[in-house]
This record gives sequence, structure tokens and C-alpha cells, in this order.
Amino acid sequence: MIQVTQLNKWPIGVFTSIDAGLGVNLDVAHELEIPTIQLHAPAKSTRTSKNAEAFLQKIGDLGITLTAVFGGFEGESYADIPTVEKTVGLVPPETRGARLAEMKEIADFALLLKCDVVALHLGFVPHDTSDPQYRLIVDMTRDLCHHCSVNGQALHLETGQETADALVQFIADVNVDNLFVNFDPANMILYGTGQPLEALRKIGRFVRSVHCKDGTWSDKPGEEWGCEVPLGEGDVDIPAYLNVLDEIGYTGPLTIEREIPQEPERQKAEILHARDLLNQCKSQMATV
Ligand code: MG
Repeated sequence: MIQVTQLNKWPIGVFTSIDAGLGVNLDVAHELEIPTIQLHAPAKSTRTSKNAEAFLQKIGDLGITLTAVFGGFEGESYADIPTVEKTVGLVPPETRGARLAEMKEIADFALLLKCDVVALHLGFVPHDTSDPQYRLIVDMTRDLCHHCSVNGQALHLETGQETADALVQFIADVNVDNLFVNFDPANMILYGTGQPLEALRKIGRFVRSVHCKDGTWSDKPGEEWGCEVPLGEGDVDIPAYLNVLDEIGYTGPLTIEREIPQEPERQKAEILHARDLLNQCKSQMATV
């Protein structure tokens, strides 16, 4: 019985996309028999109710469950850490207003997809909480959370750009009941913002979705990117990651993220390998 219980929690997932963002095609989830997906929001022009209905029909036919819709914006670039700081999320002041409005539209599109979780990279929140921008970003996030709340949705912040302590402080400052975390252990390493498992323990009570991604530290953490690598080959320590997820009481999907769309065959093979690795870890944990 223990085995069955363990295998029913943590359904495997994969990060997917349709016409924007770097996720894999839905067909890959189907071919690899992965039962849940997160979806990068499609391009603005295709976020129609007709397309939402067709998508729901398709995932229904395939027996796939949508667990989160991720927002992303034109003009974002992950080329290097300074570029992320300038271009990603709702933090850059030049695009903040337009992107906040678009993020609300994405939440409304997620509602058409009957999805109660919306997520995003918020961007680099200033580390100095007395920075006037910090207060503006807190207020904007509260505004977005209110919009999501009216839709019956939670907002999950992707980890990476902040330390665990800064993220906990930020969530406390926003002070709403529908703001949580999508924990990505590799991002802590890639951005150089802290040991992932230590961070996971600190943020644990807010973690409502996760990415399964691996990476290696750069020689200059926080200044230069670490390297994203196939699951199990980096510095995360996947069995230990699952142990900490268990420790914090997380039972949701284990969503594999592997964004190398320029090499689709390799991407699919590595997602398959990640799926098998996660299932193997789950089985081992269930039998101890
Ligand atoms: Mg991620």
C-alpha cells in the first residue's frame, strides 16, 4: 500500500509550449506518457477562447492535466545574468505597466483553460528593501495577486533571481494569501543565489509547484551563468531533492524542464531519461 501511495503523489510533468516560450510540444508529453504539463502562455494573438477550447479538448483526449500557465513576454532574454536583469519579468520599469496588463490577460486565458495556477519569473527584485522600486514591485505584485484571486487562481513565483531569505521577505511584504513559489533547484545554482536544498527548506511552506532541472555552478556565481545539464548530471542531487520535497510535505507534480529547443531529438531523449530517473527515485523512496 505504501508503494501505491508514494507513486500516486508526485505525478511526472513536463514544461510545454505552443507558439511562444521554450517548452516542448504537447505531443512529446503524450509520446513519453507524461500525465501533467505546465504551459508557457501562447502568443497574444492566439490567446483566444476558441483556441482555449481546442486545447482543453486536446489535453482531455490525451488524458493530460494542465497544472500551471506560465507568463512570458516579448523582449525577454536569458542571454546572461545582466540581460535577465534588464529584460525579464515585471521588474524592468520601462515595460512594467504593459506587462502587468498582459500578465492579467494571461491569467484570464489560464482561466479559460480552467487552470488555477499562474506563474512567472517576476524579474530581479531589488535586494535592498528600502529601494523605492522595491515598494512599487510589492504593490504591483499585490495588484496582480488580487486579479488572480478574483479568478480563483494562485500566483507562483519562479525561483532563481532571489535568495531564499529575500523571497520569503518579499512574500511577507506582499502579504496576500494566494502568492506561492514554483521552486526550481537548478536556477538557484545557475543564478548563484544559494544552495538549492537549503533554499527549499527555507521556502518550503510556500512551494506549491516545482521544476525538475539540473545545473552546475559557474566559477563566478551570481555574475556568470552556471550550466544547465540533463537531470541527474548536475549539482542539484536529485534523490536528495526529492527527499527534501518529501520533508516539506510537497505532493504536487514533478515538472521536468529542459529547454534546448534547437535540439529537439536530444531534448526528447533527455526528458525521457529525466522521467525514468524520477520514477526510479520515487520507487526507491517508496520501498525504504
Ligand atoms: Mg524553471
